[in-house]
Amino acid sequence: MLRYDLHCHSTHSDGLLAPAEVVRRAASRGVDVLALTDHDEVAGLPEAQEAARGTSLKLVFGSELSVSWNDVTIHVVALRIDPANPRLLAGLAAIRSGRETRGQRIAEALRSAGISGAWEGALRHVTNERLVSRTHFARFLVEAGHARDVKDVFSRYLTPGLPGYVSHDWATLADAIDWIHAAGGDAVLAHPGRYKVTPSELTQLIADFRSAGGDAIEVLSPSHSAAQVTQFASLARVHGLRGSMGSDYHGPGESLLDLGDLPPLPAGVTPVWTNW
Ligand code: AMP
Ligand code: MN
Ligand code: MN
Ligand code: MN
Repeated sequence: MLRYDLHCHSTHSDGLLAPAEVVRRAASRGVDVLALTDHDEVAGLPEAQEAARGTSLKLVFGSELSVSWNDVTIHVVALRIDPANPRLLAGLAAIRSGRETRGQRIAEALRSAGISGAWEGALRHVTNERLVSRTHFARFLVEAGHARDVKDVFSRYLTPGLPGYVSHDWATLADAIDWIHAAGGDAVLAHPGRYKVTPSELTQLIADFRSAGGDAIEVLSPSHSAAQVTQFASLARVHGLRGSMGSDYHGPGESLLDLGDLPPLPAGVTPVWTNW
């Protein structure tokens, strides 16, 4: 059975490893099929493809799109996209374009909470000038001694209701799925267990995702408990969605799971790669 990991990040968004390093690490850990899915970005794919050449690892072109659904930020993973598709590229550029101003607002919000220098501090961690992310602020906050680690940052800062959080309008769900389909890809609802929504809102989100043309949901994700894996496997079946799996790896020391560290998809789930 092939080992799939269909969600991870590189220095082209908020990962710590360059695309070629991600590919080499995945290959050495026995991953057969890897999707590089940088946030709102596809610029790392050529380097990843080059690194995969001549190895047995098959690289899937991906991205993870930031979406606003009813004021909740959700993520949609795009798999098997044509990274040169003009509609997708324009869509990704539009999503990215708000990030710099948002970052400056995050820095102001942190300043109001008594933490200065966050903008410059975050920029020292940014590895793609087009992609300033909360993760870069988190690394600054750890470095400045405001939290133990990146995970600890998000329980004290940068999330709704806490200092340093600013709301932001990302793409709409319908647009994101349309761009992914225009580029020939599959749209996957990322880590559904991570959203801070009520059970009925979660059901509504999955239904809306399906009606907007979504193809699959991430059943296996490091943030999912065993009970959630069972729940999302069943929701996938009920809603006629395929299932995906990904480590959401961001780099050494920062992720719950390493590349390829996932069990097989539960029985009864149609894998997203069924028709690839
Ligand atoms: P952004 O796209 O700028 O809103 O940043 C989102 C990123 O922050 C996610 O992709 C994660 O890498 C990181 N993140 C969000 N919440 C957490 C958390 N609770 N623990 C660790 N990282 C998180
Ligand atoms: Mn991330
Ligand atoms: Mn995500
Ligand atoms: Mn991710």
